[in-house]
Amino acid sequence: MPVLPLSVCVFCGARAGADPAYVQAGRDMGQLIAQRGWRLVYGAGDIGIMGEVARAAQTGGAPTFGVIPTHLMQAEQGRQSLSTLVVTETMHERKKVMFTNSDAIVVLPGGAGSLDEFFEVLTWRQLGLHKKPILLLNTNGYWKPLAALIEHVIEQKFAESNVRSFFSVVDTVDEAGQALDAHFDSLMP
Ligand code: AMP
Repeated sequence: MPVLPLSVCVFCGARAGADPAYVQAGRDMGQLIAQRGWRLVYGAGDIGIMGEVARAAQTGGAPTFGVIPTHLMQAEQGRQSLSTLVVTETMHERKKVMFTNSDAIVVLPGGAGSLDEFFEVLTWRQLGLHKKPILLLNTNGYWKPLAALIEHVIEQKFAESNVRSFFSVVDTVDEAGQALDAHFDSLMP
């Protein structure tokens, strides 16, 4: 059953990254979520791409659901103006609350934290614990090495080839929108 309003969890960098296209992708993603009438679920920070997504989503009128552990409230500047701000004890709890309150996951360019979040939802999918779509937003080819690594893991027989079907690589926010539309349409009775 979908979470209502339809909720898109965005994992992304707490930094801006080297290419201005990453920040732009964050803004475009926030705008897309607002335009479609979806809710943004994210890590509640006000820095890097995280902050950009949230500002754009809020400016567009989207409801926002942020989840942050107590110890990061200062470092990641927990955004108080969100529709809902959940403060957790631990990082694990943060990921669980974000995941359970989402219908789909989009991973924008980011660092080790975003990779951790991506692999957590990917491995849960591999274990059959959920069927939520996982999209890698491959802005200017940022996730190409990650997709190649996963291919390598499959080729070397440390994963089944069906892992390929557990996530999709999309090159633009528009493409992400189309993939999410198709998924959400399939959930409706
Ligand atoms: P990064 O991609 O490294 O910039 O991190 C993006 C976000 O992921 C930040 O909000 C980090 O606090 C968060 N993060 C990093 N490691 C974890 C973890 N193990 N569980 C949950 N969130 C994490």
